[in-house]
Amino acid sequence: MLLNRISLLGITTLASLSWASLIFASETAITAGEELDAEQPVLLEIPEEPVIPDTQGKSEAETVAEPPAAAPEPEPDKGTPQAEPAPDEIKADPVAEKKKKQKKAQAKREKAAGAIDSARSGKDKNEAPEEIAIASEPAHKRAPFELLGESVAPASIRHLGWQAGAGFGILDEPTPVLVVHGKDEGPVLCLTGAVHGDEINGIDVVRRVIHGLKPEELQGTVVGVPIVNLPGFRRSSRYLPDRRDLNRYFPGDAKGSLASRIAHSFFNKVILSGCHLLVDVHTGSFHRSNLPQLRADLRDSTIADMVHGFGDISVLQSIGARGTLRRAAAEAGVPSVTIETGEPLRLQPSEVARGVKGIEALMSHLGMTRERRLWRIPQPIYYESRWQRVQRGGILFSKVKLGDRVSIGDVLGTVTDPITNKGVNIVASYNGRVLGRALNQFVMPGFAAFHIGIESSQEELINEIEPEEEASTPAGDVTSETVDNDRPERLPE
Ligand SMILES: [Zn+2]
Repeated sequence: MLLNRISLLGITTLASLSWASLIFASETAITAGEELDAEQPVLLEIPEEPVIPDTQGKSEAETVAEPPAAAPEPEPDKGTPQAEPAPDEIKADPVAEKKKKQKKAQAKREKAAGAIDSARSGKDKNEAPEEIAIASEPAHKRAPFELLGESVAPASIRHLGWQAGAGFGILDEPTPVLVVHGKDEGPVLCLTGAVHGDEINGIDVVRRVIHGLKPEELQGTVVGVPIVNLPGFRRSSRYLPDRRDLNRYFPGDAKGSLASRIAHSFFNKVILSGCHLLVDVHTGSFHRSNLPQLRADLRDSTIADMVHGFGDISVLQSIGARGTLRRAAAEAGVPSVTIETGEPLRLQPSEVARGVKGIEALMSHLGMTRERRLWRIPQPIYYESRWQRVQRGGILFSKVKLGDRVSIGDVLGTVTDPITNKGVNIVASYNGRVLGRALNQFVMPGFAAFHIGIESSQEELINEIEPEEEASTPAGDVTSETVDNDRPERLPE
């Protein structure tokens, strides 16, 4: 396992460097990008390049040995106040406060719906004598897009920077935020990658979508943040420097832990300031791989509509763990879905392509881009899901691939004790499809090895009663398996 881990880290370091350089557009980096993907045009004319310090040769072990950036706090709970709140900070009436928040969220939703309508009707209008329409309508010029104190002109692409400003001082470098502001009215779709710093497929999904857009043909705006968790990405780590999982701290707290502060800044300065809709891109966690799939709360009609827009993809009904970016955004009136594709610490072209295809289909569905496919997009397939765990420790070998259909009694894999050489089969307890699986590795008893999707209708999924709360990820120990449970809504994302 150690060997396996080291080689994975080696690959990541290389990949990280290529992508970091690519995103920040040095000439050599563009060459590296073209080697990786010749078919994808690299379209970059971006001023002000933030510099990423060289992280080459830094192993996970070294990173762990570093003194923690912030002293560990006694209470790791989300949003734990550092001190007694001052009297003027005490909220007068929590019920009134909640209602106010709901009202705000509703207003945001309505704005998003209006923007989608505008894009869709704009598309219909342009369908007929398009050239004449464009020639005779120069008067109506779209307003610039304002974000992070900057202004982006219509039909242009710009590179902005988000700074957490959480008291990092000189370490507070800007995190790149790419904005494509279309020529015509439409929704603002936000794309986020690498909220978990080791999930690098998402970085490339965002890159490809953003750089595949033509601002002069776009209705609406796309905001892409390829690497939300830049500190984690540099260390090839899922977590922030304080060992916390950023994706359990949204919407954050300006006076909370480091993770809370970073989450609060990103949520307010980017998500609430700019986004109508959000797609957050992830991969499996802890040496597991996921079949490309959406996680979404289908009870929300706008989210259900987004899911339809992705077309042919597996979908799991899930509210999302408390503190996830997706759930916090949806609760604040920004309809959101998570796309899971592939495994962490790797760059997987086909999984990346699947994510890109889904988001491009979504943009077309929302009226933001022209129909790329005239044929009917197949509908998503809905699943409820269960994890199958190993009962004994040993060396796990999978016998099934992602996407395989399995029946009760099928052998999913084996676990062999390396000392006694005795092996046991892991046998399917459900009829369904392999939506996620562990990579071959050494496992401990109870390890969640196979994630089986059981086909279901959208209605059945929505009607299932979900537990209100889920355990947050204790981020202290990267190697332990911490989050999975037998319910889809407890999946790490
Ligand atoms: Zn993730």
